[in-house]
Amino acid sequence: MRLAEQRRELCGIGRRMAASGLVSGASGNISVRHGDLVAVTPGGVMLDRMSAEDCPVVDVAGHLVEGERAPSSETPMHLAIYGCTDAAAIVHTHSTYGTVVATTMTELPPIHYNTLLLGGVIRVAEYATYGTPELAASVRAALEGGRRAALMANHGGVAIGRDLDDAYENARLLEWLCGVYVRAKMVGEPRILTEEELVKVIERGLAPPVLPPREGPVT
Ligand SMILES: [Zn+2]
Repeated sequence: MRLAEQRRELCGIGRRMAASGLVSGASGNISVRHGDLVAVTPGGVMLDRMSAEDCPVVDVAGHLVEGERAPSSETPMHLAIYGCTDAAAIVHTHSTYGTVVATTMTELPPIHYNTLLLGGVIRVAEYATYGTPELAASVRAALEGGRRAALMANHGGVAIGRDLDDAYENARLLEWLCGVYVRAKMVGEPRILTEEELVKVIERGLAPPVLPPREGPVT
């Protein structure tokens, strides 16, 4: 089986995503890149009930290399992100607070310094129909400048990482930041960290880990 280890990892992360409430049902999808191949979750399958064999493998052009099931409809977005970043894994969710922010705002203001772990202020990618090249392009633009996460208008969020664990933790951090913001708005007007305050945090050494160089010719 091609990318057997990576496909098993997808199942493990899928179970953790469902258990932690980041996804419900079959909403959301995950992928991991290895060289010029990508293992991705199948469309329409509960993320906590997949087997490794259920997860298809595609090449960077999106052609099915192995697997019985159809790749997630959001595979073009995953491939577009691999094409413009050094990400080795991607987690896409419809997590509650992320979707609340993505439905009401154009960016998530920096209310907590851990925003910097995701590369800075989180942008909300412009709305486009799910699974389309337009949505892929919109998310790609929102991740520019070394962002590790983006929100997707009226849809959800996406996080990238150096491996699946890293992408999953970034997705959890994105949801936590959105949750803090939404709850803070219920209590009062959240204070936004200034540019100067964020620069001081960076000077103390807080920065997202550098993604490893690509192993294969992903273009
Ligand atoms: Zn989605």
